[in-house]
Amino acid sequence: MHVKTLILGGGLTGLSTAYHLERLGQTDYLVTEREAAPGGLCASRTVSGFTFDYSGHLLHLHTPYGKKLVKKLLKTNLARVKREAWIYTGAARVPFPFQANLFALPPARRQACVDGLLQAAARPKKEPKNFEEWCLNAFGPGVYEQFMRPYNTKLWGRAPKELTCDWCGPFVPLPAPQEIIKSARKPAKKAYGYNAYFYYPKTGGCGALVNALAERVKNLRLSAPVTRVNLKKKTAVVGGETVSFDRLVNTLPLPEFLRLLEGEAALKKLADKLVHTSVAVYNLAVKGGPGKPFSWIYCPDEQDPFYRVGLQSSFSPYNAPKNTSSFYIELPGDTPHTKAAEKRIWKALVQKGIISKYDEVLFSFWQTLPYAYAVYDKHRSRAVRQALGALAGRGCLCAGRYGRWEYSFMESSLLQGLETAEKLV
Ligand SMILES: Cc1cc2nc3c(=O)[nH]c(=O)nc-3n(C[C@H](O)[C@H](O)[C@H](O)COP(=O)(O)OP(=O)(O)OC[C@H]3O[C@@H](n4cnc5c(N)ncnc54)[C@H](O)[C@@H]3O)c2cc1C
Repeated sequence: MHVKTLILGGGLTGLSTAYHLERLGQTDYLVTEREAAPGGLCASRTVSGFTFDYSGHLLHLHTPYGKKLVKKLLKTNLARVKREAWIYTGAARVPFPFQANLFALPPARRQACVDGLLQAAARPKKEPKNFEEWCLNAFGPGVYEQFMRPYNTKLWGRAPKELTCDWCGPFVPLPAPQEIIKSARKPAKKAYGYNAYFYYPKTGGCGALVNALAERVKNLRLSAPVTRVNLKKKTAVVGGETVSFDRLVNTLPLPEFLRLLEGEAALKKLADKLVHTSVAVYNLAVKGGPGKPFSWIYCPDEQDPFYRVGLQSSFSPYNAPKNTSSFYIELPGDTPHTKAAEKRIWKALVQKGIISKYDEVLFSFWQTLPYAYAVYDKHRSRAVRQALGALAGRGCLCAGRYGRWEYSFMESSLLQGLETAEKLV
């Protein structure tokens, strides 16, 4: 079989690339997906009338084209939702973001944050060499020790000083020092962060978006894993069959893709420099509602086994039957899926008042997301630049959060699909 463009991966990025290629008049392409259903991490699954995403998947749309495309695909099946996010630390319930809501902390902790910020402001500013230094510059040691260090250590599985700071600009809200100090007296009025409001499908979970896209993609082959790629011969083995191509688009996790290459020893070596985290997700359905309503809660404290708890049923009333609630609970990827781990989760949820020990559990199940976050360590930037440059020189374009090995959102997948299709045409 021969195709002009072979697209590896039928997640949001691969589907968006194919959709835009078709719109630009190119139909000689094939999207090849390992799983029996399209969508990758943006798919959803329905269990006994509950819709679960692969942990929370909310649409943060910040560009006119991103909004227009999602509205075109989902039509009336789209709602705008206000964020209700909190940080539970010790006995305090702090609105998100922590650094703009110090008023909610007990007096001694609040004072330590303010003192730390003043201390940081009095020091001459140095260019931060890592994420720890970036946080200390921006917030001082109080906010760093009470939230930034413990939360990010749990999320990234390593100390903030092992991370660079070239990812945090769009993701970590950065109030001005006077706003942080003011927040020790009263709640911030401003809605900080990229996700103060988000979009979400009314029915079908996040999967409704990828399904709407997949319906418009004619040449999608499912249950067809790519097992080998030869960039010199321009061939790939897809579901056991050899396919030749003129151009290749990769949306698979970059190190996994590099390891599939035949006869590219130098490129394969780069894969070892690319590190990632995994997430274990414990999904839970209960009768009744949570103690207090929320969208999601950050849990930085070391003794809590999870780092974030999301209320899947809060995103849409159609995500769960009436008088029930559904949660996704995110833990480090190496958490064993055992009864003992479940017990620890339950105990912490009850102790935090998120659920009651009298709640009736309807069901629960685990998921593991093997690729969650590309780790921004000191090797990442150089290795990614070298790999993407060398691949482009061999006729292979990479796109998406995992294809480009970056921290980005669904809107970027949609836009990179358009950008890639335009480059190909
Ligand atoms: C925990 C978590 C929460 C997130 N929350 C949000 C959020 O709230 N909002 C947001 O905008 N973004 C969120 N994201 C990011 C979002 O998931 C990604 O941006 C998006 O899914 C990237 O899509 P993709 O198509 O590039 O990758 P993927 O979804 O990973 O798709 C890649 C596809 O390739 C397939 N594949 C892999 N190997 C092979 C092979 N050998 N052969 C063939 N096919 C293969 C996979 O099965 C998959 O379908 C979150 C991510 C994580 C991990």
